[in-house]
Amino acid sequence: MARYIFVTGGVVSSLGKGLSSASLAYLLKSQGYKVRLRKMDPYLNVDPGTMSPFQHGEVFVTDDGAETDLDLGHYERFTNISSKQSDNITTGRIYSDVIKKERKGGYLGKTVQVIPHITNRIKEFIKKDITNEDFVICEIGGTVGDIESLPFVEAIRQFSNEYGKSKTLFIHLTFVPFLKSSDEIKTKPTQHSVKELRSIGVQPDIIICRSQQSIPLDQRKKISLFCNVPIENVIETVDVRTIYEAPISFYNQKLDKQVLKFFKLKPKKRANLSPWKKITKIVLNTKKSVNIAIIGKYVNLKDAYKSLDEALVHGGIANNVKVNLIRIESDNLKNNEIKTKLKNVSGLLIPGGFGKRGTEGKIAAIKYAREKKIPFLGICFGMQMAIVEFARNKLKIKNAGSSELDKKCYPVIGLINEWDKNGKIIKGTDKNLGGTMRLGLYEAKLRNNSAINKIYNSRNIKERHRHRYEVNNSLKGEFENKGLIFSGMSPDNKLPEIIELKNHPWFIGVQFHPEFRSRPLSPHPLFSSFIKASKNHK
Ligand code: GLN
Repeated sequence: MARYIFVTGGVVSSLGKGLSSASLAYLLKSQGYKVRLRKMDPYLNVDPGTMSPFQHGEVFVTDDGAETDLDLGHYERFTNISSKQSDNITTGRIYSDVIKKERKGGYLGKTVQVIPHITNRIKEFIKKDITNEDFVICEIGGTVGDIESLPFVEAIRQFSNEYGKSKTLFIHLTFVPFLKSSDEIKTKPTQHSVKELRSIGVQPDIIICRSQQSIPLDQRKKISLFCNVPIENVIETVDVRTIYEAPISFYNQKLDKQVLKFFKLKPKKRANLSPWKKITKIVLNTKKSVNIAIIGKYVNLKDAYKSLDEALVHGGIANNVKVNLIRIESDNLKNNEIKTKLKNVSGLLIPGGFGKRGTEGKIAAIKYAREKKIPFLGICFGMQMAIVEFARNKLKIKNAGSSELDKKCYPVIGLINEWDKNGKIIKGTDKNLGGTMRLGLYEAKLRNNSAINKIYNSRNIKERHRHRYEVNNSLKGEFENKGLIFSGMSPDNKLPEIIELKNHPWFIGVQFHPEFRSRPLSPHPLFSSFIKASKNHK
């Protein structure tokens, strides 16, 4: 029977609940237990798919095509357990399900209320799809005390009461600030946050205290006393030098040990920390570095390309180099600036994107990388723009473009009219923007002896997609005659999945998002190969 661990956050947001949950999951998994990770988000969007990265950071995509919170990316990267649609829910989805049921008369004339109907739906989500897992770690987004998160906290309180207190554990992550002026660590915000949590019926079993420096025993005792938690369960987490140190740090603080003790369990095997120690060492000590430029619309926003930034670091780990990301805003990128801006750059990456703003700058940069033979990786929108650039400058189709950006162009990129998912024809649309994209894992066939075939060392691959537009396959012959090869295709040969340039050291565009499947402990071959080529450039 699964045991449930609920993780809440207090005092301030961005304390690293996702990373803490993911590290705990790794530690439990590596001690022989089966773990699932889930996230409940208190906002009203049905999923984060339509949210701008400016608002919420990257949208993470799962194998089964869910558009989810970026914390699920942390979960996957740290545990290598693939998340599913059923692992992320929002208030919007919960309300939409309940209202749909109400409209169908599903509540048999009853008054539909937050308690019990919304909380019941939340409890259904918590238990859904759980079979032989030993642990389900369920993170609640937001901060305790917010109006939005109340129904979730109420639901986990009820859940623990119904499911059994010995089978549910509450972890509360708080902030313990250090006041420079008085040279003191302050426990009061933690006390208040726990008080807030207790006032809505949840007594934490473990408190994780995020702090800039180690918390002296006296202060920990104070937290233990005021918050009614045994001293061994007041766990500190001091800022780590790299996120890859987090599992090691939580192990040293005995988080996993206290969790197992709570459930009266023993490790089935020893936790394996050596891979994390190895990559921490590489990340912290590597002297050699390589400059990679990322040209995009959201480059100055920390989490907008989270998985991509991570995948590039993984590529660096595989090649023992530090990857310096040079973020270039595509918006105001002028033609005549490209040369200077890309001067010290050994590789160029154009990531996924939506909309017209900044596209001409991207296209001009791709031209520069193609002509100057700088390693280039185009991801999704980046590949589409590489097609547009090549069509304009090599096929001489002056008005080549994407119908996403210009309805009057010659569409070398067009709206998916019809495509097939498991025998079901889905019509593309640019009217209804929620959940209408080609999403999730799709297969591609790779051409024998192509560069991409060698990189993957396979003829059949599966990668995650998130896009509405596709490369127009009717010009394949023209592109290939001029040296741009369609080296990966959908199994029915209709949709170009990968393009690569002949007579260029490394120029590849992919319609999918390889970054979602890269892991620090197993870097994605495309990123390893791209960083290797960039390292060898010049
Ligand atoms: N906007 C493009 C499309 O919808 C690319 C999307 C992306 O880069 N993820 O096809």
